[in-house]
Amino acid sequence: MADIIQLLPDHVANQIAAGEVVQRPASVVKELLENSIDAGANTIKLIIKEAGKTLIQVIDNGKGMSVTDARLSFERHATSKIKSAEDLFNLNTKGFRGEALASIAAIAHVELKTKQEADDIGTQIKIEGSEVVSQDPVVIPKGTSIAVKNLFYNIPARRNFLKSNTVELRHIIDEFHRVTLAHPSISFSMHHNGSELFNLPESNNRQRIVNTFGGKTNEKLVPVEEVTEVLKISGFVGKPEFARKTRGEQFFFVNNRFIKSSYLNHAINAAFEGLLRDNTHASYFLYLEVDPQTIDINIHPTKTEIKFDDEHTLYAILRSAVKHSLGQFNIAPILDFERDSNLDTPYNYQGKSAHTPHVEVDRGFNPFVDEKPKSTVASSSMSFKKEPVASWESLYVGLESKGNEVSGNFSEVQFETDEMTSSMFDEEETKKIQKTFQLHNKYIVNTIKSGMLVIDQNRAHQRVLYEDFLQQITVKEAVSQQLLFPLELKFSNTEVVIIKELQSQLEQTGFVFSKLDNEAIEVSGIPVSVKESNINAILEQIISDVENDVPDNNHFSQSDLLAKSLAKSLAIKNGNRLTIPEQEHLVNSLFACKEPSISPTNRTTFITMKVNDIDKKFN
Ligand code: ADP
Ligand code: MG
Repeated sequence: MADIIQLLPDHVANQIAAGEVVQRPASVVKELLENSIDAGANTIKLIIKEAGKTLIQVIDNGKGMSVTDARLSFERHATSKIKSAEDLFNLNTKGFRGEALASIAAIAHVELKTKQEADDIGTQIKIEGSEVVSQDPVVIPKGTSIAVKNLFYNIPARRNFLKSNTVELRHIIDEFHRVTLAHPSISFSMHHNGSELFNLPESNNRQRIVNTFGGKTNEKLVPVEEVTEVLKISGFVGKPEFARKTRGEQFFFVNNRFIKSSYLNHAINAAFEGLLRDNTHASYFLYLEVDPQTIDINIHPTKTEIKFDDEHTLYAILRSAVKHSLGQFNIAPILDFERDSNLDTPYNYQGKSAHTPHVEVDRGFNPFVDEKPKSTVASSSMSFKKEPVASWESLYVGLESKGNEVSGNFSEVQFETDEMTSSMFDEEETKKIQKTFQLHNKYIVNTIKSGMLVIDQNRAHQRVLYEDFLQQITVKEAVSQQLLFPLELKFSNTEVVIIKELQSQLEQTGFVFSKLDNEAIEVSGIPVSVKESNINAILEQIISDVENDVPDNNHFSQSDLLAKSLAKSLAIKNGNRLTIPEQEHLVNSLFACKEPSISPTNRTTFITMKVNDIDKKFN
């Protein structure tokens, strides 16, 4: 039989390598920024269009390349950074594999302009899918500019796999932060679709963190310093009371390179043990320095994982250094979690004992006679008008939106509603046979012809709200409640970017933003089903959902994610008592849904138990 093995042509080999090196636009950003740093630049500008799908450009004032080097830089295994395998263990550059530019050029349209200081004229090269299209002299200042256009233009499967612009931009910003935080002495700027997102002047570590994450970050930082023979640590951890539900701000840098390490992350968690509220994560910005001989960076093409010779020792040193800092800065004793945990989390009103208000029932009350609304209800600070003869629908919304501004009073509000609704419906109710009841303030049991339904109240309500919000976003019919005083909220630049990306969809659900710029958001209108006091938590939840967006096979839809997120934030929690009318309303709304049987996150909303099956148990 004839020989069948052949060497792959270069451009195919490059495309295969690109599969590992370039997963998404953010990977290109990382490689280009790192090349500029290796070129000794002290000013680096990143320009992005459409989350990197149409353009990623990096302009630096580094040492540039000669005419020949400019051409060679796109060859695979072409690098100026190492000469032998031994050099791998004495690295002081970001790159060393010589495959980034070759990979990128195989799957995009690339335009390189570069000039060395001593040269009068620079070089411009255009490459499309590994093929050099042109090479010309060009007049430019010292440095290099690389523009990567139409990424994955020749690999439709990869291009289609890219997520929404919000998500891809988020990944780009993450990479940008990882690089910029590691190099505070270099000044960086980033532009997206023509507007400047970040402008980070040359500074020290602390200033860089504050410039990146916003002014309020400064007060959150606790310094960590430790020098031992094997490891030098500097940097900061976030005070525990500022811990967030998202893992966003967690950074390890080893010899100025951002790395991921779940093992070292564990060391930090161990140091914070007992100091964090449930489901929150401490932020950290830790700069570790080790002897390059004791680590191996070449275990993964993206170079974000490294192998340490002696991980256990590093773990122990790191843990004790962080613990020491938290103790030294008096962080630990200030917190009294027994007392604080409920006060700190307005959205977590579970487990609060109900305080029964004294309510007099007006037995002569007739719901069909027009009268002024009760003062307890009317005292709400919001302009939410309630008709005396309310449909179940509006009763329900009332319960959600009529909240007392003081967090934690949710149960009182409920009791008021409880009394009101029962006085309104008592007469009716007593005539009917009660068809629903609540089990453990968690399940609604409903009798049906063939037996009974057991409905998970939280999941069912999520389904109802999800379909409502999705409808509002797509049909644009939401009503907004105007706030008397616009609500000013503080978010970091990154978070503002996410909100901005979602702005039009949020507005379709009823949000009105009177201001939306770096670090400040002003909300002047909110959806009717939302309480003013919950806005911050809801927006935080949305941001965290966007950040933690798990890759799935379906096409990501922003509207869908937003509807899910809002539904999750606003759904009745387990532990909340519901009146009978509320229970019935929920059951009816659930079965009016398109897909009543599963929650927006694909979990069962109800189960049925047939009388037959129950009969059998009595045999
Ligand atoms: P690596 O960074 O691993 O060496 P790359 O493919 O990223 O591989 O780059 C190849 C070579 O091109 C580098 O070694 C460097 O000599 C040159 N190069 C790339 N980007 C720049 C830049 N911005 N300025 C100067 N030289 C650069
Ligand atoms: Mg490189």
